Amino acid sequence: MNQKESHPKDEDDDFTLNTSSAEPLELDDQYTKPKSICWGRCHPMMFRKGNPAVVIGPHWPLFICAFLLFFFIGCLFIFLRANDEPLIFYTTLIVGINQCVSYLIVSLINPGIANVERIDIEKNQQSNQKTWYCKVCKLIQVKETQHCLDCDICIQEYDHHCPWTGKCIGKGNIKQFYYFIISTIVFTIFNLVLIILKFKEQEAKAKKQ
Ligand SMILES: [Zn+2]
Ligand SMILES: [Zn+2]
Repeated sequence: MNQKESHPKDEDDDFTLNTSSAEPLELDDQYTKPKSICWGRCHPMMFRKGNPAVVIGPHWPLFICAFLLFFFIGCLFIFLRANDEPLIFYTTLIVGINQCVSYLIVSLINPGIANVERIDIEKNQQSNQKTWYCKVCKLIQVKETQHCLDCDICIQEYDHHCPWTGKCIGKGNIKQFYYFIISTIVFTIFNLVLIILKFKEQEAKAKKQ
């Protein structure tokens, strides 16, 4: 999942901060925020305080397909439990809705696009933290920021690019991503156990007859 080991910054010196670069950085005071914000292949929407609250990734068709699949499977299980005890029916309903909503959240929120963050270079240099310059985004990368080749944008605390959510998993949505994974495991185990129990119940009824 974590692709940090294979990052080109480890092999390519071009990513090292070069103050005598032929292409000057247009920085906002001592900060690394570029004057012109680019979004790569991501589609930001619904801005809050200048930052995008909702970001659709480049693989949005896969996100829509996966969401429809989760929605369909969730509805199917809810429909199958329609005549069961209220406790089983409502638990299936809550588990299904929770799984779909957690998927929607992780797929829609900003994964942590780096060029909207103001990073103080001086403070960063004082702490002797290594910095790299991304030529594509024209910004200085710090704090495990990496450039995603699929999204074509720098992502803070980049974890991996997830085609199923349509975009990257980074600082902005990593917690929601783990919550979605847990929700999916709970959804799968819960429905699998119910199927096995129902199957055994029907088998016992058939033997009695
Ligand atoms: Zn970049
Ligand atoms: Zn990406």
